[in-house]
Amino acid sequence: MDIGFIGLGEMGAAMVANLLKAGHTVRVWNRTPEKTEALAAAGAHAVATPAGAFTGDAVISMLADDAALREVVDTALLAHAPRGLVHVNMATISVALAETLAREHAELGLHYVAAPVLGRPDAAAAAKLTIIAGGAAEAIDRVQPLFDAIGQKTWRIGALPQQANVMKLAANFMLAAAVEALGEAAALLGGHGVAMRDFLDVVTAGPFPGPVYAGYGGMIAEDRYEPALFKARLGLKDVRLALAAADAVATPLPVASVLRDSLLEAVAHGDGERDFAVLGKVAARRAGRA
Ligand code: NAP
Repeated sequence: MDIGFIGLGEMGAAMVANLLKAGHTVRVWNRTPEKTEALAAAGAHAVATPAGAFTGDAVISMLADDAALREVVDTALLAHAPRGLVHVNMATISVALAETLAREHAELGLHYVAAPVLGRPDAAAAAKLTIIAGGAAEAIDRVQPLFDAIGQKTWRIGALPQQANVMKLAANFMLAAAVEALGEAAALLGGHGVAMRDFLDVVTAGPFPGPVYAGYGGMIAEDRYEPALFKARLGLKDVRLALAAADAVATPLPVASVLRDSLLEAVAHGDGERDFAVLGKVAARRAGRA
């Protein structure tokens, strides 16, 4: 397919590399143009404006947040996009913005698919993302070859794009809760002279297997928060989005409120660009041990 790709951060760059490997023609745009260079060497075509990417069979966006997406994909850009184009937004954005974008695209004869992903940049590099797709079935059918190139499985959850975003936010809320619990457990263990590494060996072999406990727990055990695969700043954004989505349907999320404050504390201490696992440092500091 001939596609555009907007946003070459940790996730986007890895996804484009796999789209190129699968033989797709990819026009790439990024705010910081230097990030296009490595991908251009691998066969991507760097374009100077978002409009240069917003054409062809489809365009994928993988920008940081609502503000970035709205800044780049504004109504003027949409008005000039070719009719029938499928825009797949794979970033984690608010339910409210997904609803707005779905409406704006439909009014202009464009297709909007929300396809947020589960998996960190290492999963993106290995083409092992879990893709949660919401939107019209015909539009998803058209971009399925792109999903096959970057993910291990696509879950189609219905015709309303924003429902895919709710599912992603619920998953990241659970992720944040697990990392907060790992951090607090590490602080508890540390206070009694028990090594986090020993604890992880026990619990990951028993009731808590899987990449979340082993991966984030391992980083907390090593007190290592760089390189940041998933930045605390982005984790805070996702918890805030979950709270906003819950607020819209009058649903209390008391644990999410705690997570928001823990992540805010990490940001306030200058750790926003560090990995999400830095919640371990927050818990240790609260216990007077960081
Ligand atoms: P990232 O490394 O911080 O990259 C963010 C991208 O957004 C960069 O291309 C950046 O451009 C661009 N950007 C930010 N503000 C912008 C603005 N105002 N105008 C234009 N471009 C702007 O983030 P990431 O880790 O790739 O995450 C991307 C999305 O995927 C986020 O929604 C995140 O929540 C989601 N996600 C991340 C992970 C993960 O583990 N990292 C997992 C699943 C989903 P510059 O290069 O110019 O800064």
